[in-house]
Amino acid sequence: MKFIAYGGAGEVGRSAFLLSEKRKSILLDCGIKLGEKVEYPLFPEGFEKTVRDVAISHAHLDHSGHLGSLIAKGARPTIYGIKATKDLTGVLLADYQRIGKNIDFSDRDVSEVIRRFHSYEFREGFRAGGYNARLYNAGHILGSAMVHLEGEKKVLYSGDISARGTRMLDGCEKGLRADALILEGTYGSEELPGTRESVNRLISEIKETIKEGGHVIIPSFAVGRGQEILLLLESYMKSGALPEVKIYMDGMIKKAMKIYRQNVVYAKDEVQKRILLSADDPFASKHFFVPRRRDRKDVLKEPCIIVSTSGMLSGGPVLTYLKELAWNPKNKLIFVGYQAEGTRGRKILDGAKTIEIDDEEVELRLKIAELRISGHAGKSELIQFAQGIKGLKKVILVHGDEESLEEMGEHLAHKYEVVIPKALEEVRI
Ligand SMILES: [Zn+2]
Ligand SMILES: [Zn+2]
Repeated sequence: MKFIAYGGAGEVGRSAFLLSEKRKSILLDCGIKLGEKVEYPLFPEGFEKTVRDVAISHAHLDHSGHLGSLIAKGARPTIYGIKATKDLTGVLLADYQRIGKNIDFSDRDVSEVIRRFHSYEFREGFRAGGYNARLYNAGHILGSAMVHLEGEKKVLYSGDISARGTRMLDGCEKGLRADALILEGTYGSEELPGTRESVNRLISEIKETIKEGGHVIIPSFAVGRGQEILLLLESYMKSGALPEVKIYMDGMIKKAMKIYRQNVVYAKDEVQKRILLSADDPFASKHFFVPRRRDRKDVLKEPCIIVSTSGMLSGGPVLTYLKELAWNPKNKLIFVGYQAEGTRGRKILDGAKTIEIDDEEVELRLKIAELRISGHAGKSELIQFAQGIKGLKKVILVHGDEESLEEMGEHLAHKYEVVIPKALEEVRI
């Protein structure tokens, strides 16, 4: 059995891994790397056309964003994933096709991606690329899956995983059996703060600002954290722990929220029961609002909480709010997610006093807060996850910067053969 990383080796982004053996072959994820410029998997010339089977772990573009180009370059693959992943990928890919730069695929290619998607339930067995395949809950975003493949050997690909449960999702499935594990290491060198700790801080930061009569801006990714944050705020407001103010959702979060609601069967039982048995639908909460005006003046009128894309301030309606609200020290900008190098979000956290929005220097006089509400597993959770896999011999570390992967590798090397592959390097399993 052979493994090659075309992306996602020593980096977070453009995940694309080929697993193959005699007469069997499957591509695991097909993503892009979003940053100051977009980077693609390092497929050899003409490779795309040969791709017949692709399993998609989850909808985030670093795992699905190259599917449109794959079709445009002549591939006619079968795509495997959970139904929620199919729906969310459709929305994210269509949005990227519409607003991205240097796009090399059309909206028709996006439709073709959706048409070629075969969706399966968690734990349901099926054939993919000649392998016996099964998808298991990864706990990262709605529909996120680990891919289990059985050929000469048993291989488990983690995709992005979270070991802790969240408001919406159960933690990833543990104790599976595999000879080899392809494991993400986003936070391979970092312990994440406890969820309760982070949530308490978020609530007290918001309360402080509302009390002062200010606006709270929470930049968020469209899929995953956005929905978690919204449901969290809703439940604190319902219980009276947060004062009643409007919670505005803006940008792609709105659309993704709809798809989350339609695919709520993939959320944890508690959430489903609340909706099905008590007609108490957190998605349809009276506290949620969407802006009515293009210039968002309606949102700016009174103190409120705004959850908007994009998560790292690289675009989206969040910039409109920031431009209007940055002058007032009563207002607050709260970062809840990872801010990559080179983004406005990173610059602000590094202490920038002004940022550029639409060729305008905007002075930042509002308060800034940073906390982590992550959809990934931290260092010891990742190590425990690997140690819980039965029969495990080999661990291939991907989806993390080199430092993170090396630190994680050191911990795992006592018990397993650890490989931190370079891009395009062939690894034997
Ligand atoms: Zn992800
Ligand atoms: Zn990822």
